[in-house]
Amino acid sequence: MRQKIVAGNWKMHKNAEETEDLLNELIDKLPHDIEAQIIVAPTFTNLASAVDHLEFTNIGVAAQNMSQFESGAYTGEISADMLKSIGVNTVLIGHSERRAYFNETDFILADKVTTALKNNMTVIFCFGEELKDRQNKQHFNVVENQLRDGLFHIKDKDWEQIVLAYEPVWAIGTGETATPDQAQEMHRFIRETVRHTFGSNVAEDVSILYGGSVKPENAKEIFSKTDVDGGLIGGAALKASDFAAIVSSI
Ligand code: PEP
Repeated sequence: MRQKIVAGNWKMHKNAEETEDLLNELIDKLPHDIEAQIIVAPTFTNLASAVDHLEFTNIGVAAQNMSQFESGAYTGEISADMLKSIGVNTVLIGHSERRAYFNETDFILADKVTTALKNNMTVIFCFGEELKDRQNKQHFNVVENQLRDGLFHIKDKDWEQIVLAYEPVWAIGTGETATPDQAQEMHRFIRETVRHTFGSNVAEDVSILYGGSVKPENAKEIFSKTDVDGGLIGGAALKASDFAAIVSSI
């Protein structure tokens, strides 16, 4: 079932104490009576404490990444099983920073998706074009290829565990946001691309989040678009009052 979702990606910010402080502030400020799913993604080292801290709240916890491997000699990696063992059942896969700085290709991401699904995790699959792609009018092609190469190997039934997050790279952390119409245009294209391969039920049920400099001032207009089902929030997720205002805009 299509759901409204607002997720906060904390990236490599907040140590243990700061994480606890921000979680307390969020518990205080976030609306409790909202139908949307609220998720935060702190760093690996703070996931277990976040799960404990948020146990009796309406805020879920996601990891920012995980290994494509189940276990073994992969120094520094974190497996799906490790995440699940501390109560984390949702993971971001394919964030543009993982693609750009850690060389995560569509093919690696496809393996990560497979591993996450095999472990019954929910995947927030992130993708989006770079500025040059949009300038060259290649943005629809790029997005379609990212979906086909990284995600479309899954089965129809797997879509219950998939959330899509369209994040144009040129809008991430830059202060530059896609206009609500640009977001809607791409979200519609994404839904139609899913429909073409997996059919209408899957296409209508999948939640498609927008990410890229969403702020309290622009969230309402972006979220009002028909094919935008919520947001993946970076910078503004680190300030409880801003994140709460964004969540309240859904
Ligand atoms: C992100 O990192 O997923 C993101 C959308 O960042 P920002 O909101 O800061 O652009």
